[in-house]
Amino acid sequence: MFLHRQANHHSSLKSFSLRFILLLTVLLMLSGCSVSLPGDSKSGALHSENGEGKLRVIFLDVGQGASQLLIGPTGKTMLIDAGNNDKEQVMLNYLRQYGVTRLDIVMGTHPDADHIGGLDKVIDYADVGRIYMPKAASNTKTFESVLTSIKRKGLKVNTAKAGLTLDWEDGVRVNMLAPVKNYDDDNDKSAVVKVVYGSTSFLLTGDAEIESEKDMIASGADLRADVLLVGHHGSKSSTSSQFLKAVHPRYGIIQVGKDNNYGHPTKTILQRLKKQGVEVYRNDLQGTVEADSDGSELHITSER
Ligand SMILES: [Zn+2]
Repeated sequence: MFLHRQANHHSSLKSFSLRFILLLTVLLMLSGCSVSLPGDSKSGALHSENGEGKLRVIFLDVGQGASQLLIGPTGKTMLIDAGNNDKEQVMLNYLRQYGVTRLDIVMGTHPDADHIGGLDKVIDYADVGRIYMPKAASNTKTFESVLTSIKRKGLKVNTAKAGLTLDWEDGVRVNMLAPVKNYDDDNDKSAVVKVVYGSTSFLLTGDAEIESEKDMIASGADLRADVLLVGHHGSKSSTSSQFLKAVHPRYGIIQVGKDNNYGHPTKTILQRLKKQGVEVYRNDLQGTVEADSDGSELHITSER
């Protein structure tokens, strides 16, 4: 490939190039060390166009529910939630679309069906590294089938709790900020993670509500983030003014389905975000939303 391209592009230098490369090849074979050939930088550039060096945080459109796929700078993957039970096939299609066959980390933020419904099939499908879920006793079929899939793969659940640092990807810090304590409310049990890459940051909040938000603030954790997954699909039981001020995001992503029965997102929260100058993206209006970071700049794109 390389020889052919050189010959075409520099026909006057053809014989020199060929001889030079042949000599280089022989030297390399003799020395047995690996040195980059001039042409290698080309393929490197091609890779970076495909996302190498970037952190991609993809807010998958799963209708009324939530799912975030993270692809790290060297290709490590993390999936947080997987939509409802009726989105299993949609989830598998997304994984194929993004070329994901292995998930280094899988997280079920809390046992509600609109978050872990699709997880069982995802775990069956992909090669899975570690799984995190908060301590929760739930006897729903949805929860049971996730546990069955985990067992079948011979995996164990790591308990999600505030204070954990997740070993995921070189140069990317992943800290778990919630749940700070045990809660009766399922939403407040939500695992919340902050992802930091260079000078950019993301706060992914599951369905954590005001109670958990208060405890996160009281814990003294650094909540500041450029991109906030707006808690509980934009319900007014989350994203308190205090919490929003502490996070101070530039972008707010709302994972919500068209014509949902919950009135999500609420006017109160949309107005609160607007007042704080937060640029809002929504799955119901824009389809899948992707926030990319090169470590210093953020780039947001959406399906429509
Ligand atoms: Zn939810």
